[in-house]
Amino acid sequence: MAVKPMCMPTQISDDEDTQKEDNIRCLTMIGHFGFECLPHQLVDRSIQQGFSFNILCVGETGIGKSTLINTLFNTNLKDKKSSHFYPNVELKIQTYDLQESNVQLKLSVVKTVGYGDQINKEASYQPIVDYIDAQFETYLQEELKIKRSFVDYHDSRIHVCLYFISPTGHSLKSLDLLMMKNIGSKVNLIPLIAKADTISKTDLQKFKCKIMSELVSNDIQIYQFPTDDETSAQVNSSMNEHLPFAVAGSMDEVKVGKRMVRGRQYPWGVLQ
Ligand code: GDP
Repeated sequence: MAVKPMCMPTQISDDEDTQKEDNIRCLTMIGHFGFECLPHQLVDRSIQQGFSFNILCVGETGIGKSTLINTLFNTNLKDKKSSHFYPNVELKIQTYDLQESNVQLKLSVVKTVGYGDQINKEASYQPIVDYIDAQFETYLQEELKIKRSFVDYHDSRIHVCLYFISPTGHSLKSLDLLMMKNIGSKVNLIPLIAKADTISKTDLQKFKCKIMSELVSNDIQIYQFPTDDETSAQVNSSMNEHLPFAVAGSMDEVKVGKRMVRGRQYPWGVLQ
């Protein structure tokens, strides 16, 4: 592990004069040095290098993928609207550099284009599975090199896949099941009920139960928040109970009280 120069231990004190005479370079200690400095050094190094986060958004055209990403990162990432007339499923990769206070984030958003618009279901999921596998392969090839250079290597493996489910309130489509079955064991798959503001509270609960039972009966693996660390066990287990998450996004700012918030304005109220 690299040690920051300011924390370098020095040979000072009694031997100093002898060292000067012997022309030995002598460093003065300007900061505390010890085992407990290591976490700070790691934090500093991570902040300097910045973080990278790769999200894969899978869902039909117009289901709210771009809107949710903009809502999550509270930004308006430039993006063109996709049409429903693509002959094949394609993946659109966009990379953004975001900054919040002194933390830099290199965000890569990979979105499906034309997903669910084809008759052939297999052709819909295969390009996505191939993309995920290709990223693992690229990483493996880098790791197998005799001289690896991970410092400037951009790791494009997917950290999380957000799977957008239509808010039908009914059940999962065969394409949903096929897709999730094929990628569930390869990525951290988080199913989301998109545009959840269009479904009533009671219907939403029933829909969630239905989805979970379908996922279990089809043996589909989804992401489980880890509960083995006692500091986060309680929060994470309550998160697991909420799966699949019900989400709503918006590009608009509406006035609530005196504040402007990101939300959706309806004749009966505001969804914040
Ligand atoms: P994408 O093609 O999946 O990226 O979909 P977009 O993000 O472009 O959204 C398509 C349309 O759905 C837009 O008109 C959005 O305003 C609308 N939309 C997005 N999210 C929501 C939501 O949570 N609730 C509702 N009611 N509409 C949404």
